Amino acid sequence: AIVTRFAPSPTGFLHIGGARTALFNWLYARGRGGRFLLRIEDTDRARSTPEATAAILSGLTWLGLDWDGEAVSQHEQAPRHAEVALEMLARGHAYKCFSTQDEIEAFREAARAENRSTLFQSPWRDADPATHPDAPYVVRLKAPRDGETVIEDAVQGRVVFRNDQLDDMVCLRSDGTPTYMLAVVVDDHDMGVTHVIRGDDHLNNAARQMQVYQAMGWDVPVFAHIPLIHGEDGKKLSKRHGALGVEDYQKMGYPAAAIRNYLARLGWSHGDAEFFTDEQALDWFDLGGIGKAPARLDLKKLDHLTAQHFTAMDDAAALQELDDFLAATGAEPLTQRQRPLVAAAMPQLKDKARNFGQILERAHFVLTERPIEPDQKSAKALDPVSRSILKELTPHLQNASWERERLEAIVTELAAQHGLGLGKIAQPLRAALAGRTVSPSVFDMMVVLGRDESLARIQDAAM
Ligand code: GLU
Repeated sequence: AIVTRFAPSPTGFLHIGGARTALFNWLYARGRGGRFLLRIEDTDRARSTPEATAAILSGLTWLGLDWDGEAVSQHEQAPRHAEVALEMLARGHAYKCFSTQDEIEAFREAARAENRSTLFQSPWRDADPATHPDAPYVVRLKAPRDGETVIEDAVQGRVVFRNDQLDDMVCLRSDGTPTYMLAVVVDDHDMGVTHVIRGDDHLNNAARQMQVYQAMGWDVPVFAHIPLIHGEDGKKLSKRHGALGVEDYQKMGYPAAAIRNYLARLGWSHGDAEFFTDEQALDWFDLGGIGKAPARLDLKKLDHLTAQHFTAMDDAAALQELDDFLAATGAEPLTQRQRPLVAAAMPQLKDKARNFGQILERAHFVLTERPIEPDQKSAKALDPVSRSILKELTPHLQNASWERERLEAIVTELAAQHGLGLGKIAQPLRAALAGRTVSPSVFDMMVVLGRDESLARIQDAAM
């Protein structure tokens, strides 16, 4: 069975690049009936914070990327990492190195002076344990000096590292704590990870990690190192590029489904499909579709996808996510009066919307209460002639059956009687009902508001 994992370091928010890595791992596992695990790489005690862990978990949750079981804390596995280091030591695949920092520095300086490789070669690699001093030591991997370490990467292809360019990496520090490089391999092995999908900034690490797998005789997972994401200008992502955290996108009002679709397309493709559902993404996602070139952010594409996702979205799901959006931005939640009205208007509110902010703008007519105070722009439509037509409209509405088609017919007929276009009545009607120029159609608004409320608003405006 397939097991993937997302292994963020909790040193900040969930970055858009990290979110994409998580998504690829989630799609790969979930699309194949496998498991998707989460490991918090909190070995760097100075830089890891519980706030960052919480932000990452909530970012993943918002994105809908559910993981199996409890998140694993890498730091808590430290005793196990040390155990593996000692096992390698016992098997002769690692050795105790007593070289001090000063000695290592001196080695490098001499190597530089003689124009040799500055990769440290420990004098303790082949030392007789009987000669070991009673002094602090690190445990180093006894890496092969000759030949090559090869990564058969599912994205990058065959990547070859010369072993004479890889030094004997430290597995255990002199204080007995494991290094990150050892921890990753032990955890991936213990968690049964079959596929490591991560940023290609870890490709060099893969070579060192491979040597640990080989030393322990463990199965090597499939590696898939994905190119990083670049900004719209083609440069590496940095603060300059603005929104980088997943929660920024939530606060900008993008729905999670659109972000999933957008992130999936950042570096992966399936024919020429741009818009797709989660079901399709789960069905289609494969490592072969991941490109070798860095993906570029494209916010226009995101907006375009968002409009399609809003249109396709289930009304109840949109309402639920609107609640989350209000909470995330620190806005007031919908009141008991507003919620059913927003729910009733949702098909029109979300149609081709670009973000939740726009949905709220369109929802102004149900969020507000009488008396409706038209803003400057919409007040212009309420000139004396228009007001008198609104007055004339009222008795027609009083006894009409309250359905969209009927309402439209009544207004159209009145417009025709006055020799006016429909817009000439729709505009003042919109001003009366919403007090805004942005809203659903006047007929949809009347249906949602109901007869009494609609008539009251029209009468207020006609006065
Ligand atoms: N903790 C690493 C990072 O956040 C990921 C390591 C890995 O996926 O192997 O970049």
